[in-house]
Amino acid sequence: MTKPRGKAGFYMTDKKNVLDFDMEQLKSVISDLGEPAYRAKQVWEWVYNGAGCFDEMTNLPRTFRDLLNSRLCIGSMRIAEKLVSDKNETIKYLFALPDGKAVESVLMKYRYGNSACLSTQIGCRMGCRFCASAKLGIDRNLTAGEMMAQFIAMQKDCGERISRVVLMGIGEPFDNYDEVVRFIRRLNQKDTFGISYRRMTVSTCGLVPEIKRFISENIPVNLSISLHAPNDEIRRRIMPAAARYSFDKILSACHIYIHKTGRRVTFEYILISGVNDRDEHAAELAERISGLLCHVNLIALNPVEGSDYMRSDRERTEAFKNILEKYHIPVTVRRELGDDISASCGQLRKNSIESDWMVD
Ligand code: SAH
Repeated sequence: MTKPRGKAGFYMTDKKNVLDFDMEQLKSVISDLGEPAYRAKQVWEWVYNGAGCFDEMTNLPRTFRDLLNSRLCIGSMRIAEKLVSDKNETIKYLFALPDGKAVESVLMKYRYGNSACLSTQIGCRMGCRFCASAKLGIDRNLTAGEMMAQFIAMQKDCGERISRVVLMGIGEPFDNYDEVVRFIRRLNQKDTFGISYRRMTVSTCGLVPEIKRFISENIPVNLSISLHAPNDEIRRRIMPAAARYSFDKILSACHIYIHKTGRRVTFEYILISGVNDRDEHAAELAERISGLLCHVNLIALNPVEGSDYMRSDRERTEAFKNILEKYHIPVTVRRELGDDISASCGQLRKNSIESDWMVD
């Protein structure tokens, strides 16, 4: 029987992905194959050192490697496209998955280390009007192993340690809650990459029940809220998901987070010309978040084809920032990295799907 062919030219497989296992699951699978438990540790070490296939695992007996090959796979990501920004500080990857889908990840090189921006879903169903991913809707969730595979592939490709992870790529992390939490915990483990929770950030459009549930997990990662508006009226206009959870409900979830973790919340705020960038919007925002342990990150809108929204100019951005500062709100303007390579959320995937790059 011929196997179905994936769109990206891969053979699709129903073999389980080792990257989706935790150690206990791997031990149990390996003992089902009649091998001692210490083999699980060996396989694990290879996988988290970037092994792309079982045949690389030279300290395992040949017969065992064949057995692994017949039952399992290492769900690595294949680099379908790679764009490097002019100053080599941002590298954007379009990864092809074995089932023919694509995800995007971005590597950002800062003075203090490398940071990986990972996707959590293939597509997104939150529908934000300014976002490239929203236009395409959701395809499916990514598994924890597929998030890990993005990290491993980028670290392997750049040849340097990645010390920070932000879940700000394609998708809404809290719409894929269980797999995201599994991934975060796994990435923190000493026997994988030992990334400290403080060096991880989850960004959400404000799904309040999941934010609260996440706080109760006691995982002290940074919380970033995509606020993008000073009130419900504007927020709902640009973010349909905002209809479910009011601004006040989001703020009260932030209070709980701050109380529990002692950490500040980051509010992301894309400045969209004439929509949310006026002086009165800045003042309203400042008044509402005043007194909260927070920080506002002003973001230049990356124009998305088919959308009329335009970014605010530099003067408007400065004026907005100055008003927040007058209210003593800590505020930064996000340094634009890699706009020459469409490094913003979902743009590469959208462009590539539209140009049908994956056709065999
Ligand atoms: N769903 C999550 C994480 C993915 S989006 C969230 O909403 O936070 C990551 C960030 O990119 C969010 O702050 C999002 O609002 C922002 N973003 C989306 N489209 C953008 C665009 N066209 N220009 C600039 N930022 C954008």
